[in-house]
Amino acid sequence: MEPAMAAASLPRIAPMTDLLQTGTERGLAGWGREALRCALRDALDGLRADCQAGRPRQLDEGFWAEVGDRLAVVPALRLKGAINATGVVLHTNLGRAPWSDEAIAAAAAAAGYGTVEFDLETGGRGGRAPEVAAHLVRLTGAGDGLAVNNNAAAVLLALSVLAQGRKVIVARNELVEIGGSYRMPEVVAAAGAEMIEVGTTNRVHLRDFAAALADPEVGCVFKAHPSNYRIDGFTREPAVAELAAACREHGVPLVYDLGSGVLVGADLAGARDEPTVKDALAAGCDLVTFSGDKLLGGPQAGLIVGAAALVRRLRSNMLTRCLRLDKTILAALEATLAIHALGEQAARQRIPGLRMLSLDQAALRARAHALAARLSGFDVLVVDCEGRVGSGAAPVAPVASAGLSLALVGTGAAELARRLRFQPTPVVGRIQDERLLLDLRTVAEDQEDRLLEALAAVRS
Ligand SMILES: *Cc1c(COP(=O)(O)O)cnc(C)c1O
Repeated sequence: MEPAMAAASLPRIAPMTDLLQTGTERGLAGWGREALRCALRDALDGLRADCQAGRPRQLDEGFWAEVGDRLAVVPALRLKGAINATGVVLHTNLGRAPWSDEAIAAAAAAAGYGTVEFDLETGGRGGRAPEVAAHLVRLTGAGDGLAVNNNAAAVLLALSVLAQGRKVIVARNELVEIGGSYRMPEVVAAAGAEMIEVGTTNRVHLRDFAAALADPEVGCVFKAHPSNYRIDGFTREPAVAELAAACREHGVPLVYDLGSGVLVGADLAGARDEPTVKDALAAGCDLVTFSGDKLLGGPQAGLIVGAAALVRRLRSNMLTRCLRLDKTILAALEATLAIHALGEQAARQRIPGLRMLSLDQAALRARAHALAARLSGFDVLVVDCEGRVGSGAAPVAPVASAGLSLALVGTGAAELARRLRFQPTPVVGRIQDERLLLDLRTVAEDQEDRLLEALAAVRS
């Protein structure tokens, strides 16, 4: 047991109005007095906690530096661009998929007035972004397609339209929690349906589904891709085509939540074993849902493709109006789908997430060596490392990558990482073996100069 630390005495703390005045004189009021007040309050809380724990503190330069740091990340005031050096391509906390130039331009163009629901021919009201549905049909071979706010919304919509007041069959090996409070039992309950679990955690047989399908109260069978976990060992589950055939026999629709939604690039690093949207439809699923900002590489959206009659039922439901996409997102989504329509090669070149997953390790090593040569003041190594697809796609598949491993004499790796996060463009890396690892797969080449600037700033 460590001896209990005696609390240190608190330094004299001037009244808030005086602190605000001092902060303003120090040039910290750039985000307004209210933001400065919040940052001061938080920094004072930290100071008091330190004193309480026996670490004496003063209202010194260190304190004011902390206030400045806090202001730099006031999230409500500014959501800023960052450099992702984690090697996790679809990093949920860093905004998942980075957009293509085309998507960015399309969103900017749509931000003013635009032909969102306007028919140029008649000059009257038109459908809301029929191009998105047309692209989805062309790209997947489905009867129809629909886009809503995100994949979670797509699943909620599908279950609510097909099974409200009825039952949903879900296998016990697919009772997934995606994160946050999105958990399968809760989603089914929110859709107003009753969940019927079949099979066991490791083994689910076709006969388990068949027995449950005999219940006339069943509205649909729901299948979820285990995108963020794997069940290994003594396992079994029916092939999607077998399950689809059983559903068809009973006249019950099969809904498959694919999560990532691979359209092209199924042979990309880390995505090889992901089922594609086309595969799922070809196997006989009636509705397939997936995200717009995972392996599609576009804006946050939930895409639903499948049988025309079912998609039409979903489209005319009131929930679809509640879950609809903003005009800028619709434009970015249309641009992203248009790139996919150009084919596999165009998608890999122009969609940043797919481009990053296509980079080979040797090319990343070469970039790491070139960067290391431009870096001074650090103990720097060029290293091979492992990245991830991220966002629940291929959770266990490593992506062979390369980058820089950094140490700074007299500064711990955590402190180095922290200083980099507080640069004008925050840099986010990973700590590995007491050193800071910067994986270059997720750093765009045109971000390298800014990365070097940030490194120079934290060294001095
Ligand atoms: C990511 C994921 C979701 C949630 O998708 P969002 O677009 O984030 O709403 C749902 N189901 C699965 C299987 C997923 O992988």
